[in-house]
Amino acid sequence: MSDASASESKAVPGIDGTAVSDQGSLTYPFDGRPGDGEVMEMRPGVLWLRMPVPIPGLDYINLWLIEEDDGWMLIDTGFKSSKLQKIWDEVVEHHLKGKPITRILCTHFHPDHLGLAGWLQQKFDAPLWMTLGEWTFGRMLALEEQPDVPQEVIAFYERLGFSEEQIAAIKARGYGNFSKAVTPIPRHFHRISEGDVIRIGGHDWRIIVGCGHSPEHACLFSAELNLLISGDQVLPRISPHIGVYPGEPEARPLTQYLDSFAKFADLPGDVLVLPAHGDPFVGLHVRIGMLQRHHETRLDALVAALRQRPHTVIETLPLLFRRDIKDHMTLAAGEALAHLHHLMHQGRIVRRRSPAGVFEFSHSDTEAQAAQ
Ligand SMILES: [Zn+2]
Repeated sequence: MSDASASESKAVPGIDGTAVSDQGSLTYPFDGRPGDGEVMEMRPGVLWLRMPVPIPGLDYINLWLIEEDDGWMLIDTGFKSSKLQKIWDEVVEHHLKGKPITRILCTHFHPDHLGLAGWLQQKFDAPLWMTLGEWTFGRMLALEEQPDVPQEVIAFYERLGFSEEQIAAIKARGYGNFSKAVTPIPRHFHRISEGDVIRIGGHDWRIIVGCGHSPEHACLFSAELNLLISGDQVLPRISPHIGVYPGEPEARPLTQYLDSFAKFADLPGDVLVLPAHGDPFVGLHVRIGMLQRHHETRLDALVAALRQRPHTVIETLPLLFRRDIKDHMTLAAGEALAHLHHLMHQGRIVRRRSPAGVFEFSHSDTEAQAAQ
C-alpha cells in the first residue's frame, strides 16, 4: 500500500460501502452501545469501548479490553487525536479498576487500530503485540516521509487510466500522510503468528491470521468464551476494503482475502463476533457467505462488461461503485484492481498495455477469438 493511500486506510471500509443486505440473518445480542469514555461488558472481564474515527463512513472503531490479574490487555487503540487521548484518560480513570494496561495488541497497522499504540505504550510501559507483517509495514510507512509523491507512484496510477486532473489531486494530497495519523510506533514489538495460543485473563486465545485487507491481520478466537475478535477481517455491515497499491503493484489481495475465509470454517456457528466496526454479532458463517457472494457478484459484473469491450481500471469504477467516489479515487481504483487481478489469476480476463501505456483488461474469450 502506498504511503499516500495508506493514510486513507482509516476510511477504507467506507469506500466500498456496499452494505451487503440480508441483515436479518445476523443477530446483534446487545442493546445499545457504549458512549464516548464508557464501556460495556461482553463477557466477564471483556469490555467493549468505542472511539470516534474522524472519517465519514467509518464513524467509530471498537476496541476491546481483557482483564487480567495485574492489568488489562488492550486490543487496538484508536486514531491519533487529542480528543481520543482525552477519552482514553477518562476510560483509564473510571473503568480499569485502578489497574494498568499491561499489553497492547494491534490487529493490523491501519491508523485507527495502531494510531495511539505508541502513546499508550509510553504511558503504561506496555509492550506492543503484532504480527511481523503488520508491525513492519506500519513502522515502514511511519518512517517514510518525503515532500513529493514519488514518480513510480504517479506512474502506477497513470497505468490505471487516471486523468491529468486525477493525478494532480494525488500530487496535491502529498506523501507521508500515514506518519501524521499515528503516534511514534514502538521500535520493538512482541511477535504473534498464525496458530499461536496466548493466555489472556485466564483463557486461551488462538491467533488467526487473515490476509487481503492488510498484510497479516491478526484475529483472536477464544473457544472457552466463544468469542472472535475479528478486527477488520470480517465486518457485519460493510465489506472491508481490499486494494492494490503501488508498493506491490501485482498483488492479489482479493484472492488472499477469499482464501482466508477457510481459516474460520471450524469456528462455532454461534460464536460472538467482535468486529472493529459495527456492532457485535452472531452469524459468522452467514456473514462470510454474504461477503463471498458480494465479491462474486462484482467479479461477474466485471467479466460481463469486459466481454463487451476492454476497460481500463478507471472505466470499471462505475460498475463497482454506486457512491460518489471522486474524493477516494486511489482507494476505489485499488479495490477495482484487486478484483481484476483475481480474475486474471482465475484466467477469466487478460491484461494488455495500450500504446499510451495504460492497462486494458479484456475477456479471455474475446482475446482468444481476436488471436485466431
Ligand atoms: Zn483496516
